[in-house]
Amino acid sequence: MASIQAIEQTSVHQIQSGQVIVDLNSVVKELVENSLDAGSTSIEVRFRNHGLDAIEVIDNGTGIAPEDFESVALKHHTSKLRNYDDLENLDTFGFRGEALASLCALSQLYIITAREMDRPRGTRLEFEVSGKLKDTTTVAAQRGTKVVVEKIFHNLPVRKKELEKNIKREYGKVLTLLQAYACISTGVRFTVFGSKSLRDLVALDLKFEMQPTTSTLSTHDDNTSRGVKVEGHISKPVVGEGRSAPDRQMFYVNSRPCGLPQVAKAFNDVYKTFNISQSPFVFANLIMDTNSYDVNVSPDKRTILLHDQGVLLESLKETLVELFESQEQTVPQTRP
Ligand code: ADP
Ligand code: MG
Repeated sequence: MASIQAIEQTSVHQIQSGQVIVDLNSVVKELVENSLDAGSTSIEVRFRNHGLDAIEVIDNGTGIAPEDFESVALKHHTSKLRNYDDLENLDTFGFRGEALASLCALSQLYIITAREMDRPRGTRLEFEVSGKLKDTTTVAAQRGTKVVVEKIFHNLPVRKKELEKNIKREYGKVLTLLQAYACISTGVRFTVFGSKSLRDLVALDLKFEMQPTTSTLSTHDDNTSRGVKVEGHISKPVVGEGRSAPDRQMFYVNSRPCGLPQVAKAFNDVYKTFNISQSPFVFANLIMDTNSYDVNVSPDKRTILLHDQGVLLESLKETLVELFESQEQTVPQTRP
């Protein structure tokens, strides 16, 4: 027998799933994005034992049609993308059709869903490890979808141990992520139920709180070949008055929360030249053509590749310097 053999299908699926769902954050991110893609105005996230026992995301979105039950958790099955060209004009968070399939491979997942026309009855869906539909039962349900992920990483012992060890920190990261979605999703109510110390996260809370010390960021950059607009808020570099908020920096590309390390660095570097002792609060949404960046860089969609990043960063820095310089005269001196 030849020594090179194809890996058995279920194993391939499990191996790849570990790249899509890498930690607690990616579970919550994928489920919340699905709820937003389904047009929800209310999203509730519940954690049992910080998510180690279960993560539940309950929305009031469109629900899933019975004809889609068979394919909903199959790998590369999506309602959001038909072919490669669609990637250029994507207006949904999801597009790879991998999240639910991956979660089936790495946890015990079930879904309860009902469309407007199905209420007050819905369907509970259970799946096999491969994502194949195993069982459906009729249950009472409101309009929307509830996805329950139990025992995440139960079959990846190393990752499970790692998660248990770092659960407090991981959980904190998830809350920050939910805040990022709440801040940008106008008209959507986010509620989180978890450990005792948690309060509901209300959209825009943060923005109002920061308003007095922030200035509106608005730049339109015609120098880049494509044009990028930055909308948002940044705290004024007033020593002693602004808050030090290194953990209060949120970046988005077309309202998609994402880590943009280079962009974050540009903001912080310029701020530092005006205020050495504090870090700014930043809420920045980069509005740009959907074909001037690429979300399809890594399976977990965390990395976003910006075309013309160098040019963008230079012009961003210039704009920030101008903004802060113009404030130096107008801001009242608060130092004794
Ligand atoms: P993707 O989001 O890339 O399409 P997913 O595996 O996350 O892939 O979801 C597969 C499909 O299941 C989605 O395309 C969508 O049609 C459906 N779906 C998932 N979550 C929800 C939800 N909360 N409400 C309605 N439909 C959903
Ligand atoms: Mg999705």
